[in-house]
Amino acid sequence: MTNVPQNLRRRLAREFTLHPLELVTHQGGDDTTQKFLWRLPDGALIESVLIPANPALYGEGSDRVTLCVSTQVGCAYGCRFCASGLDGWKRNLQPFEIVEQVLAVERWHAARKPATARLGRLVNNLVVMGMGEPLANYDALLAALRILNAPWGGGIGARRITLSTCGLVPEIRRLAAEPEQFGLALSLHGATDAVRERLMPVNRRYPLAELIPACEEYLTHKGRQITLEYLLIAGVNDALDQVPPLADIAHRLRAKVNLIPYNHVEGLEWRRPDEAVQEAFLHALEQARVKATLRREKGHDIDAACGQLRLKTEAAEKAGDKPEEPSPPDSTPPDHE
Ligand code: SAH
Repeated sequence: MTNVPQNLRRRLAREFTLHPLELVTHQGGDDTTQKFLWRLPDGALIESVLIPANPALYGEGSDRVTLCVSTQVGCAYGCRFCASGLDGWKRNLQPFEIVEQVLAVERWHAARKPATARLGRLVNNLVVMGMGEPLANYDALLAALRILNAPWGGGIGARRITLSTCGLVPEIRRLAAEPEQFGLALSLHGATDAVRERLMPVNRRYPLAELIPACEEYLTHKGRQITLEYLLIAGVNDALDQVPPLADIAHRLRAKVNLIPYNHVEGLEWRRPDEAVQEAFLHALEQARVKATLRREKGHDIDAACGQLRLKTEAAEKAGDKPEEPSPPDSTPPDHE
């Protein structure tokens, strides 16, 4: 911009970045889940996932396109089954790095489909369920969500924004007191401390006796239905003895349960249970008068679980190889929360 003074140009170059996300890999086709791997200005890698309209999972309308964004590089919470925390926590994302995931996807869409892009924005729902623990990066997250929510900004209604947490009690309470009606999804994955602790170390710091009241407070303040996410992992949390305590929690919170068959992560021993076991678990929950859904899939590709694309690319780059070629478009429905 030669029409602005030299001094200002130098300052702009020093203090601002226009397009801070570089697209490293894109996977998936138009009607399926599409995954984006981005490189940040410091070289770190993060993922975002674009999910086409499908039956509402978090109480949204159905003609929607949802983007799932990351909030941290890596994760410190070390859930045993999760790829995002395998290499530990690297850093928090800054507000612009969270906002940019939405803008970069919009730009990518506009470049590919100028005609549809002219009709309006692509993304109308946001879920904060990518890499990282959103509530552990609280201030940057709120700053980013306020920009994405603002009429002068992203224009995405607060009720169309849902964030997912592994269960940080103080931050759930803090969020309950914020004015916006963001949706809350809780990664429960175990309905008793014994089972949950085996999967999620964070449960030792915030056991169910503290976590559930914090969610009750959220419900009281927002009046918005909470979603309980419950992974089904063979031999770990899929036995029917988890159903009564899970139903108790769901009733207490008037929550809906999303049952998610586990996506295999390379190098980890966890497996999803057989379909019959998944269906039996769902059926037992319904018998206990819990509103529940089970993600049914035809198959799942191995990069489905968030964080795996990054791990693979980092490993390949360390070995001096080029990252793997993206796999051809598949026909699997959304694999990703
Ligand atoms: N830290 C936040 C958000 C990121 S994880 C949280 O814990 O909720 C988003 C969701 O994906 C969580 O419910 C998480 O438990 C789930 N998840 C992680 N690894 C998975 C896998 N391999 N298969 C299916 N879901 C997985």
